[in-house]
Amino acid sequence: MTGDELYYIKDAVAKGKISGNGYYTQKCHNFFKETIGFRNCLLTSSCTDALEMAAILIGIQPGDEVIMPSFTFVSTANAFVLRGAKIIFADSYSNNPNIDAGVIEELITPKTKAIIVVHYAGVACDMDTIMDVANRHNLFVVEDAAQAIDSYYNGKPLGTIGHLAAFSFHETKNIISGEGGMLVVNDDRFDQRAEIIWEKGTNRSAFFRGEVDKYSWVDVGSSFLPSDVTAAFLFAQLENFQKIQSRRKLLWQTYNEGLKDLQHIDDIELPKIPDYATANGHLFYLVCKNIEQRSALISHLKDDGIYAVFHYLSLHKSPFYIADNSNRLLKNCDKYADCLVRLPLFYELHTQDQVKIIESVKTFFE
Ligand SMILES: *Cc1c(COP(=O)(O)O)cnc(C)c1O
Repeated sequence: MTGDELYYIKDAVAKGKISGNGYYTQKCHNFFKETIGFRNCLLTSSCTDALEMAAILIGIQPGDEVIMPSFTFVSTANAFVLRGAKIIFADSYSNNPNIDAGVIEELITPKTKAIIVVHYAGVACDMDTIMDVANRHNLFVVEDAAQAIDSYYNGKPLGTIGHLAAFSFHETKNIISGEGGMLVVNDDRFDQRAEIIWEKGTNRSAFFRGEVDKYSWVDVGSSFLPSDVTAAFLFAQLENFQKIQSRRKLLWQTYNEGLKDLQHIDDIELPKIPDYATANGHLFYLVCKNIEQRSALISHLKDDGIYAVFHYLSLHKSPFYIADNSNRLLKNCDKYADCLVRLPLFYELHTQDQVKIIESVKTFFE
């Protein structure tokens, strides 16, 4: 929290129009266009919603195949499963939880429609390789950029490279509104339809701009847009964007510096940022040598009053999806599911507390 959230919520209430696509929604859209350079964006109620919009926009039909990493959140998959897609899970790199760009091509079949990339921990996937594979096979690329605000691939903001991108403002992310998200549209073929799907399948936005004289039901859609109260909260965060981001990046750097000697211990990994990528201070993790060591580290930290948590379980092994993937072996994904642990990283984290966390981690390994 930055302290300005209640001020803007109060103002949204005073303005008297708190449904979607109001004053603060426009302010947020303008911020993203002017400050980050997104060409077209729409706030949504969640990143999950933005991914569902993406699945509708790229025309996913029952039986289509969609390639994505197994090491991700369920929403990445569910949005496409809801349209009838079959998910083809890909492995991570051995030294980076992101999708291994080198294994994508062999997973493509005549039924493949799209590749969904997830910039894990806000670190870019290998987008040149992925866009090249997608272009050669005529596939759509959707960036699940839930964790990737303010992060870059070779100087390009993440979320501007695929055909569509989805961001999250869930309270666990860098910039928050409780629940919240955003669809970014990079391909102008989707502009008009995105706005219609967003507004329950109506051309209400065009009506309010005076482009049509009545609004009607013109397509499928849902209520994907957030209330202006949510947008007001988000705007308070956006006004403090640099402040939040510099603090989070500093905390990330401090962990990286403070723990860098651990990478000389056998089988312990720290985050690796490829040359083409940046770190946006979203999350800092360690990869332990096995699940037993990770459990021991988590309970050692807990005894010191520090709450550290693991992250995704492999989606290809989840109870809901295992039948379709029972014979797939994705060993790097399984390694991150078993061995990765996240250290506390949030805007209000005090420097003295971070020093204690670093000490506690080092004591464990010593
Ligand atoms: C947080 C997250 C989501 C879901 O975001 P919501 O805004 O909670 O719907 C999806 N994908 C990834 C990779 C995430 O980290």
